[in-house]
Amino acid sequence: MFLGHYGVAFALKRAEPKVSLGTLFLAVQLVDLLWGICLLLGWEQVRIVPGYTAASPLEFVSYPITHSLLAGLLWGVAAAALYYSWPTTDTARHWQASAVVGVAVLSHWFLDLVVHVRDLPLASDDSAKLGLGLWRSVAGTTAVELVVFLGGLALYLTLRTRRQVVPRARTLVVAALLLIVYFAASFGPKPASVREIAIADIAFIIIAALLGGWANVRAAAPEPHPRHAHAH
Ligand SMILES: [Zn+2]
Repeated sequence: MFLGHYGVAFALKRAEPKVSLGTLFLAVQLVDLLWGICLLLGWEQVRIVPGYTAASPLEFVSYPITHSLLAGLLWGVAAAALYYSWPTTDTARHWQASAVVGVAVLSHWFLDLVVHVRDLPLASDDSAKLGLGLWRSVAGTTAVELVVFLGGLALYLTLRTRRQVVPRARTLVVAALLLIVYFAASFGPKPASVREIAIADIAFIIIAALLGGWANVRAAAPEPHPRHAHAH
């Protein structure tokens, strides 16, 4: 899954506006960021097999550190704890906000579960592997990616509280960029090497998180206090 992760980030932003959209963009893709690093270190393995599934040429040989359900839970708890302990003066709803960050990290595994073939382990490589295999259908994959992404985006755009304003223009620029990268990656030239995949993966996730922070809601300007009109 690609766009869908960002749809979940937008939806979680609607649920807990306190967490920066940049933080949520990073959280929903945390295990893919770690996956890129693990590939470069040789700790996890992927193979490029053209036509492996209709929508993806990647055979995920081994990736229990980043893409097992157990790892998703542990990375989620770690991310929530990191968010909770990050120095801040804004401690309102801090526990809830930390939980949302943890849920964002864990959500990655469940979205991947929809598209991957049976390669997502529960724990180690020896445990059962799951995957619903939507990647066997390009049309099905594209449809689900777009529905989750646009649904989350629509939820975010309706966010309006007294104190928060969604910067619509920036949000639409970021959404358009994500759509362009998705279609270019899905239907453009395929990566030539695992190293290229890993570096593109890491760079993309970091840049997307920075863009998310740029499109984050800002505090609305304080409402001007109407001055009492005095006679004379
Ligand atoms: Zn993934």
